[in-house]
Amino acid sequence: MHSKKRAHSYRKILAVSTYCIVLMALPGKVEEVVKFAIDVGYRHFDCASLYKNESEIGDGIQQKIKEGVVKREDLFVVSKLWCTFHEQSLVKGACQTSLAALKLDYLDLYLIHFPMGFKAMEELVDAGLVKAIGISNFNHKQIERLLTKPGLKFKPANNQIECHPYLTQEKLIKYCQSKGISVTAYSPLGSPARPWANPGDPTLLEDPKIKEIAAKHSKTSAQVLIRFHIQRNVAVIPKSDKPRHIEENFKVFDFELTNEEMETILSFNRNWRAVEMLMAVNHKEYPFKEDY
Ligand code: NDP
Repeated sequence: MHSKKRAHSYRKILAVSTYCIVLMALPGKVEEVVKFAIDVGYRHFDCASLYKNESEIGDGIQQKIKEGVVKREDLFVVSKLWCTFHEQSLVKGACQTSLAALKLDYLDLYLIHFPMGFKAMEELVDAGLVKAIGISNFNHKQIERLLTKPGLKFKPANNQIECHPYLTQEKLIKYCQSKGISVTAYSPLGSPARPWANPGDPTLLEDPKIKEIAAKHSKTSAQVLIRFHIQRNVAVIPKSDKPRHIEENFKVFDFELTNEEMETILSFNRNWRAVEMLMAVNHKEYPFKEDY
């Protein structure tokens, strides 16, 4: 799929994501992971200045371009503006810092990591630094406010949100898609290694009902969890730094979940979040208090 199609057919792109790799990887590992993922066929890289590994990702990408394995235009590289750079005068510099670290002339998509300010983002499109701008963790009211903002020049192309069978996001996905905003699902496996997990938290990869569906297709739970998004027209960015998982997570185009299985998986929703961003819970724009 992605390897042959243009990188900008965004919804069809499965991502290798880079978040958290920095927490676990020894220096030098991220570059190796990126190179391996490109060889496997991944073309979408979900990055962020917050993840503090854009330089290594850039080294991996450059190496594969140099080897002739991919061209820049085959890739879909995303980065995100962190909250401390929302001040209009800081936005361009933050974007340029990410570009310099990634060793790229432009980003395919630049997201606001957390709901706040958009105007300076639009200028990055005009300056040719990014092909598209988008949002992350916005609820529908925040999106509505943005879309109805007087003088809005570029609509957000994408909303990156947590999504998996325990947080199916049906209303928000329907809303975004009705407005022509594509959706990317982050933490699609339920972010099992997140350092802030509580002992009683549900674990998607171990869910017997997901395992049962996976067994019917001779697939793994992770593959079912990834495939679930593809069949909803939602881009999906599972993170892994293990070659066997990176390969496994890419083998999701040779089977199809039935409509009944999709409905069953949707019924597992319990509005549970792996990423609650509790440090921002008292901020006026904290997005997760709304129904959707
Ligand atoms: P995921 O749901 O992708 O889970 C990642 C974990 O699953 C890792 O511990 C990984 O371990 C493990 N894993 C991966 N593949 C398999 C497999 N096949 N079998 C078993 N375990 C597997 O969670 P993340 O929270 O990391 O989210 C993914 C991405 O979403 C991030 O990297 C980031 O890019 C994005 N994100 C965006 C946010 C935002 O605010 N916009 C917030 C959070 C995430 P291993 O590495 O050992 O394979």
